[in-house]
Amino acid sequence: MVVVMNERATEAEIQAVVAQLVEMGFDVHRSTGVNRTVIGAVGNGVGDPQLLEVQGGVQEVLRITEPYKLASRTFKPDNSVITIGDVRIGGDEVVVMAGPCSAESEEQVETTAAAVKRAGAKVLRGGAFKPRSSPYSFQGLGEPGLKMLRAAADRHDLRLITEVMEIGQIEVVERYSDIFQVGARNMQNFSLLRELGRTRKPVMVKRGISATIEEWLLSAEYVLAGGNTDVMLCERGIRTFESYTRNTLDISAIPVVQKLSHLPVIVDPSHGTGRRDKVAAMARASVAAGADGLIIEVHNDPDHARSDGAQSMFPQQFERLMAELRIIAPAIGRSICVETVARRGWSR
Ligand code: PEP
Ligand code: MN
Repeated sequence: MVVVMNERATEAEIQAVVAQLVEMGFDVHRSTGVNRTVIGAVGNGVGDPQLLEVQGGVQEVLRITEPYKLASRTFKPDNSVITIGDVRIGGDEVVVMAGPCSAESEEQVETTAAAVKRAGAKVLRGGAFKPRSSPYSFQGLGEPGLKMLRAAADRHDLRLITEVMEIGQIEVVERYSDIFQVGARNMQNFSLLRELGRTRKPVMVKRGISATIEEWLLSAEYVLAGGNTDVMLCERGIRTFESYTRNTLDISAIPVVQKLSHLPVIVDPSHGTGRRDKVAAMARASVAAGADGLIIEVHNDPDHARSDGAQSMFPQQFERLMAELRIIAPAIGRSICVETVARRGWSR
């Protein structure tokens, strides 16, 4: 249930409601909005909503009918904005994350990071722990890969997103990365999600290969329920009967999720299509459909990439795409970064 306080509610009234909910046995999550405070009560508490309705400062008590609570718009009507240094995800600006599928070498990471920065990306992507369908495929460089990614991100004033595959990797990934990526194959690794809920770094939850939107939002709920409010979702294509593309990118998921939830939605057109010649069209469509960000695979030499080369863009293709996105974004009241020169001074 959600207790919506009125605009003039005092801090003492808010605290009284929180105390009453705790007494009823609920886990309490507070969301302090621009105009009013909303208090979410989740878990196995028992209480009569009418008792809360008559408390001072309470405007209304709503039942959240969706199975996910903290991820729902009923709990938080305003869009969530995730701030990492000077990067804001979920605001007016469409944030572009780009980089290789995997960190492979110092030179590859550095060259690619420089190229995506020049084109206007704000976040460097790259995996050091790779979930591969085959145990014989390249599994990532591990910690040395994380070091390369962090150093390149710092040199180019980029934030860093990288995948964490298991609980035992959280500590080392947290040391180097600004955003935890939960891969499609791990979307329902509930113990990992719970543990990430205890961290205080943003988490991007990719949609599972055959996950419904509701299941995806419930995965985000696991992280939120642990107290980590900085969660974003990533549509990366789902498995359908179509085999021409690697996956079917569900563009309609963008407006659907934005109606149901306040969490930012990022789109990954690289895994969504699996083919570099289809990535630009899907990236443009995603921005037009209202995506809050994109995550795109770019490689300095994609033909020799150790993973996902066929879907990785050449740096020049990415630069051109960014120029196109800068034309599309303003048509729907959004913007895309034009900054090309590294700014110093941001510290983690
Ligand atoms: C990736 O981002 O390189 C990746 C493995 O993505 P996904 O989990 O969506 O397959
Ligand atoms: Mn990949």
